[in-house]
Amino acid sequence: MIELVTDLVIELPRNQRDVIATHVAADHPNEACGLLLGHKVGARFVVHQAVASQNIADEPNHRFEIDPGLRLRLQKTARDGGDIIMGHYHSHPNGVARPSETDKAGIFEADLVWLIAAVAGGRLQDIAAFMPWADCGGFDKIELRET
Ligand SMILES: [Zn+2]
Repeated sequence: MIELVTDLVIELPRNQRDVIATHVAADHPNEACGLLLGHKVGARFVVHQAVASQNIADEPNHRFEIDPGLRLRLQKTARDGGDIIMGHYHSHPNGVARPSETDKAGIFEADLVWLIAAVAGGRLQDIAAFMPWADCGGFDKIELRET
């Protein structure tokens, strides 16, 4: 069980949650993934935009990999708009909204928030947020606030 042990918060506007819900439903039963643009104020991450990526993993039904070309393009968009790429999201088809062992093994950047969306019956069921440890060895759950 992952407990809330940090004071980090991520604020997800309802309309961007809807973007994620539509995307994860459309790609079901494959994993869907995308990037989160926004800004950070103190311990608060504020999502401005969720941007769908193609899942370029070889086995998209149980892995995800964000298109690096999209990330490069968004880095420029984000800079121009005063935002940062603050994290990403992916879905767990018929799974739970917490990191898998594959996810734990796949942390390469300690400063990106992970949103994990549980999908069942082709519909978003639950969404939760996690912050990697500084050594990328695991995650802490952080508070997800829908705004
Ligand atoms: Zn996962």
